[in-house]
Amino acid sequence: MSMPQFTYVRPKSLDETFRHLSTGNARIHAGGTDLLGCLHDGIFAAEKVVSISRLDELQGVEQMGNGSLRIGALATVSEVANHPLLKERYPALVQAAREVASPQLRNQGTIGGTLCQKPRCWYYRGDFHCSRKGGSQCFAVAGENQYHCILGGEGCFIVHPSDIAPALVAYEALIVIAGAKGTKTVPVEKFFVLPEQDITRETILEPGEVVTAILMPKPLQGLRSSYRKVRARGSWDFALAGIALALRFNGGKLAGARIVLSGAAPIPWRSPDAEDAIVGRPLDESTIARAAAAAMKAAQPLEHNEYKIDLFKGLLAEELAAHAHT
Ligand SMILES: Cc1cc2nc3c(=O)[nH]c(=O)nc-3n(C[C@H](O)[C@H](O)[C@H](O)COP(=O)(O)OP(=O)(O)OC[C@H]3O[C@@H](n4cnc5c(N)ncnc54)[C@H](O)[C@@H]3O)c2cc1C
Repeated sequence: MSMPQFTYVRPKSLDETFRHLSTGNARIHAGGTDLLGCLHDGIFAAEKVVSISRLDELQGVEQMGNGSLRIGALATVSEVANHPLLKERYPALVQAAREVASPQLRNQGTIGGTLCQKPRCWYYRGDFHCSRKGGSQCFAVAGENQYHCILGGEGCFIVHPSDIAPALVAYEALIVIAGAKGTKTVPVEKFFVLPEQDITRETILEPGEVVTAILMPKPLQGLRSSYRKVRARGSWDFALAGIALALRFNGGKLAGARIVLSGAAPIPWRSPDAEDAIVGRPLDESTIARAAAAAMKAAQPLEHNEYKIDLFKGLLAEELAAHAHT
């Protein structure tokens, strides 16, 4: 398949961007690392590609007055991985950014783009008219489903592809969305859409809306965080299983916990069951075992991905144990 024809514009303001996005079948272009592949492979079409690269207000990382940080949607994954303030305050975010793809892709891909990237299911990306593309079936159900989801699948069994998103959910980050009608700020946790809510979209973004920034709240006292990813190959690869942890300790006990799984579900999957199993307790062996079991309580594997259950249990137990010993 060759690259289809489209017009390409590079507006200099958000207002101009909204005008371009409101006409024709337009798509936003940030770093282009996912968009161009999707257009080339005919996963969706575009008459117009609107580059947001000239929008200065979407760049950079800045400190806000209330101790929070604002990461512009055009900050590259490399910028996030190497920023001194992010390294100091949000280790899980930096670890996740370092796990994304390859150095070249991290230099080109943006944080906004990584949250809006399309899923990597080989049926969705292949020549299959699946339910996510408006068809009537999910080919993974009776097909090659070893990399598909074990939680939250309903008519479609993709896994959410971004490593950065679970870390943002663990930190209770907010996402800023701008459109012709105004700007709204929502928790990143509420940005993603399950198949049971709408099988044809991955996020709440409406046509014409632009992600402009991520807001990182000031880390709470006693917060320890991490992101760990397991992949099938030693070189770049998407997560088979990943875990973002944000644990708040008070004395020897856990005062709060956010446990978010990647590679498990069509969205970054927060596990309240696992969180409930550890909050209020010391992080000892029996608490860790309870959390690992609770995280997988609702899992419903497909024919070829049952191995993910033990993988997640082991990974969560190892990660929690690592925090217990620091
Ligand atoms: C070979 C390969 C390996 C990869 N491995 C990993 C991996 O291991 N882990 C991982 O997390 N990711 C991985 N990725 C995905 C990569 O992180 C994304 O492609 C990249 O972050 C997307 O950013 P971009 O700026 O290039 O987005 P683009 O390609 O420009 O855009 C991606 C999508 O988001 C939309 N979009 C972009 N910016 C905005 C915005 N500000 N507002 C609204 N919509 C927007 C676009 O319209 C498009 O649909 C991999 C990608 C490739 C090609």
